[in-house]
Amino acid sequence: MSEDPRDWEVETRLVRGGLARSPYGEISEALFLTQSFAYDSAEAADARFAGDAPGFIYQRFGNPTTQMFEDRLALLEGAESCRATASGMAAITLALTGLVRAGDHVVAGRALFGSCRWICSEYLPRFGVEVTFVDATDLTDWANAVRPNTKAFLVESPANPLLEVTDIAAVAEIAHAAGAKLVVDNVFATPIFQKPLQLGADIVVYSATKHIDGQGRVLGGAVLGNEPLMSEAYKDIVRHTGPALSPFNAWVMLKGLETLDLRVRRQSENAAKVADAMAAHAKAKAVAYCGRADHPQAEVIARQMSGGGNVVALDLGSQEAAWRFLNALEIVDISNNLGDAKSMATHPSTTTHRSTPEDERLAIGLTPGWIRMSVGLEGPGDLVRDVTRALDAA
Ligand SMILES: *Cc1c(COP(=O)(O)O)cnc(C)c1O
Repeated sequence: MSEDPRDWEVETRLVRGGLARSPYGEISEALFLTQSFAYDSAEAADARFAGDAPGFIYQRFGNPTTQMFEDRLALLEGAESCRATASGMAAITLALTGLVRAGDHVVAGRALFGSCRWICSEYLPRFGVEVTFVDATDLTDWANAVRPNTKAFLVESPANPLLEVTDIAAVAEIAHAAGAKLVVDNVFATPIFQKPLQLGADIVVYSATKHIDGQGRVLGGAVLGNEPLMSEAYKDIVRHTGPALSPFNAWVMLKGLETLDLRVRRQSENAAKVADAMAAHAKAKAVAYCGRADHPQAEVIARQMSGGGNVVALDLGSQEAAWRFLNALEIVDISNNLGDAKSMATHPSTTTHRSTPEDERLAIGLTPGWIRMSVGLEGPGDLVRDVTRALDAA
């Protein structure tokens, strides 16, 4: 075949990347729901275990369906390697634990998804890894946090829930000058709108649960990067600790990837309309959206993102007003997920960020009036009407 999939356009990568057909020639990717694989002879088993012959051994190490998903996502990301995991949190845990040892130090942006924050503040310290939290928008803060034993930086950009944006290229430079690796949680931007590896990041992490499935069905995650780092940091951990993605979930995600570009672009168009309608309403104290010119890091966004994404945050001034807004929604669901075809809104202070101590919530600007909305694929007129009605009621 003369075609190199790495030269394909994004849409082609999403539909055909990683496709490995069985001898039946099926059009739709096959679901190989098998734990293990048979060998033609004892010699063949010996060669496969020795790594001298290609082929699958056991689902915890690899599976044809899971590998199709990994290959397709790697091709989309422009990464040499991808490891699929059972959830986004398994991916974050793998990404960090593969880079550090007892006695090492991590620097993390302080606006993080609640469970990512818990891994940094509670879990890593149990194993002798210290974590310093910084204001991810302040480059001086990153540089000042570096210690001789700093091995990894972790940043989520845009961050949950207020869509704070970090200059990834600048933070990558600080990390590399310190001899540390930069891990970027790219969930909010999606692989369609932001390419952290091209900006200098070493590792990209996804919760595939969000836009990659995109239809609210299964959990999944992925860690991506280039060789040899991916093999050195993660191969043995994946093999021996077992965060593997189920082939069934990998199959769902593979089909999700086929429509990712279409869905994310439409969601982003809808989100821009919803954000503008919110910002024009008298009850809105503030609106945060990466596609709006009034975003505080609009200049960084213009350099590193090619779309605004589907998440919008809205400040209604008080928890009472925020809850009145949620309770008046008729189409948009009250739910804490994001990236789904169905629009949903949540009150982060009492849901997703409930476990973040109040002083830390306030440090990232998360006061009780904020709502986070994940804009879906419904008609934009219906969404704007629903949100406007809820604002009227707030
Ligand atoms: C949802 C989410 C995660 C965790 O992913 P799961 O698939 O739910 O484990 C991590 N980071 C961000 C930014 C997320 O939105």
